[in-house]
Amino acid sequence: MTQQQNKQQSISILVPMYNEAEAIPHFFPAIHKVMESVDVEYNIICVDDGSKDNTLELLLAQAEQDTRVQVVAFSRNFGKEAAMTAAVDYADGDAAIPIDADLQDPPELIIKMVEKWREGFDVVYAKRVSRDTDTAMKRSSAGGFYKVFNKLSQLQIPENVGDFRLMDRKVLDALRRLPEKDRFMKGLFCWPGFKNTTLEFERLERTAGDTKFNYWKLWNFALSGITSFSTMPIRFGVYLGLLVSFCAFIFGLWTIIKTVVMGVDVPGYASLMVVMLFLGGIQLFFMGLMGEYIGRIYMEVKNRPIYVVAQEVGFSSADKKAG
Ligand code: UDP
Ligand code: MG
Repeated sequence: MTQQQNKQQSISILVPMYNEAEAIPHFFPAIHKVMESVDVEYNIICVDDGSKDNTLELLLAQAEQDTRVQVVAFSRNFGKEAAMTAAVDYADGDAAIPIDADLQDPPELIIKMVEKWREGFDVVYAKRVSRDTDTAMKRSSAGGFYKVFNKLSQLQIPENVGDFRLMDRKVLDALRRLPEKDRFMKGLFCWPGFKNTTLEFERLERTAGDTKFNYWKLWNFALSGITSFSTMPIRFGVYLGLLVSFCAFIFGLWTIIKTVVMGVDVPGYASLMVVMLFLGGIQLFFMGLMGEYIGRIYMEVKNRPIYVVAQEVGFSSADKKAG
């Protein structure tokens, strides 16, 4: 991309919002301040994910004042991943930057992201250098998650990189072709590939409001991430089954030798009990795991839409996309 073309370049800022009324008054000035210092056209696509507070009213008020603010309102809460999917569907810029409404991702980094984009990178990751704002528990569980995910999945996701990143049009177009209903965006965002680079930043405290995620949600999120990108867990069952059968075979041989050759009788109760419980446990575990995948197949084949839009504001009819 040459410098002369920069004037026409446009960037879509993608913001999922769920009960962010407290954050909105801080968010828009911060974004406008940064974006006005970058030499691009921009729009801010806000997805109201069925908020229960007055987030939607505040967003509509913003859109009324400023044509660069566009609002997509969901009919109910579909979750952050769905909100992000909608934002990608509606994004019409030459590049897009998903960002949280709570300003935990510093908007100032956008300036450097755009510089990197103009140098020719299609994806510019923003990596958190420290997780000081997280609890020790969240830090270690997040670290563990990336390790397990990257071991099990062919697709490698960069550690400590959230949704905050810049993606070129090419990447957005590739993302739109991913039809799955189970949206693990951290993984999906990486799936198209393309030339990437990483910037580092310190993640800040939320400016206002509270986090929408608890450990149970994060655990399910992690499970969904791993099962959407890897079938290794069920394959592991095959190997474990082979290993256990092999051990049983050796044990069988040893028992025959002990009885026939050495003439020792075989006391059974305790060993039977242990083996039965052990195998029963393993079988149930892998049946559950298979169920997990079957459940996901079930959800996929239903082919329900990922989100339902109740209202669109600020879009010209040309760039309206079906939900
Ligand atoms: N969010 C959303 N739908 C939800 C939950 C969260 O759109 O069901 C949005 C939320 O408004 C915020 C972003 O996702 O803009 C990140 O949420 P949060 O700050 O609660 O997550 P954390 O930073 O604690 O991981
Ligand atoms: Mg946050």
